[in-house]
Amino acid sequence: MSDRTLIVGNWKMHLNVSQASLLLHRLQERIRISSDIEVVLAPSMLVLQPLSVRLDRRKFRLAAQNAYATDEGAFTGEVSFTMLRDLVHYVIIGHSERRIYFHEDLKTVRAKVAAAVRNEITPILCVGETKEERKNGETRKVLHDQVTTALADLTAKEVQDMVIAYEPVWAISTFQGILAKPDEAQQAMDYIRDQVKQLYGPKAAKNVRILYGGSVDDQIVGGYLAIPGCDGVLVGGASINYHKFSGIIDTAYRLHRKAD
Ligand code: PEP
Repeated sequence: MSDRTLIVGNWKMHLNVSQASLLLHRLQERIRISSDIEVVLAPSMLVLQPLSVRLDRRKFRLAAQNAYATDEGAFTGEVSFTMLRDLVHYVIIGHSERRIYFHEDLKTVRAKVAAAVRNEITPILCVGETKEERKNGETRKVLHDQVTTALADLTAKEVQDMVIAYEPVWAISTFQGILAKPDEAQQAMDYIRDQVKQLYGPKAAKNVRILYGGSVDDQIVGGYLAIPGCDGVLVGGASINYHKFSGIIDTAYRLHRKAD
């Protein structure tokens, strides 16, 4: 398993300020400080600021779930990466819910990745094929197009510092929620790393962190964390459940202790 496991909880459009503060409080009491594990919470935009003042920075980092690619201007309703730069460490970009419900295309995702890097926020780029695309044998083409376009404006150094989450759309609980077998996930994750290697060289490919996401919970997380080259997990539904999310973190601790 990876030297340092990254666990990201995407709270989506759940939990208001008081619900989020309560969950943070419970997680904060339970979770130990560990150099082996990095836990990132991605609450709604409204919750980021109040959570940041309650957050034990030795245990957690914050991520935004989205941001707008232009740094400033007349864009009613949007929040830019520039506005988030002192608040969050990461931003989730290209999540399938944003690609599908909000019609974010490859160009938009590319602009957002560039904006994140420009503002010194680490992108967590989500890529993954739909069920239809997999059935048609297009998985590699989809991953190739999503990865190469999103990274097009970056240097090898910038790519090596970022995070890519392989999230097959058919495995996300919001859509079909079919569990991907660890070997299916591994094939796609290997392919993504290989794409990075071809475009940005072996150092970027070695260092870029690649996560798996898709209906991961405390019962099955061990199977994904054991995949060679898997640097962690992006968790949606289970991350707003105290028992499931802390169970995921406990499993990661256990696996690290075993590996030591
Ligand atoms: C996600 O939102 O990135 C995700 C993987 O969701 P879920 O774990 O609920 O499938």
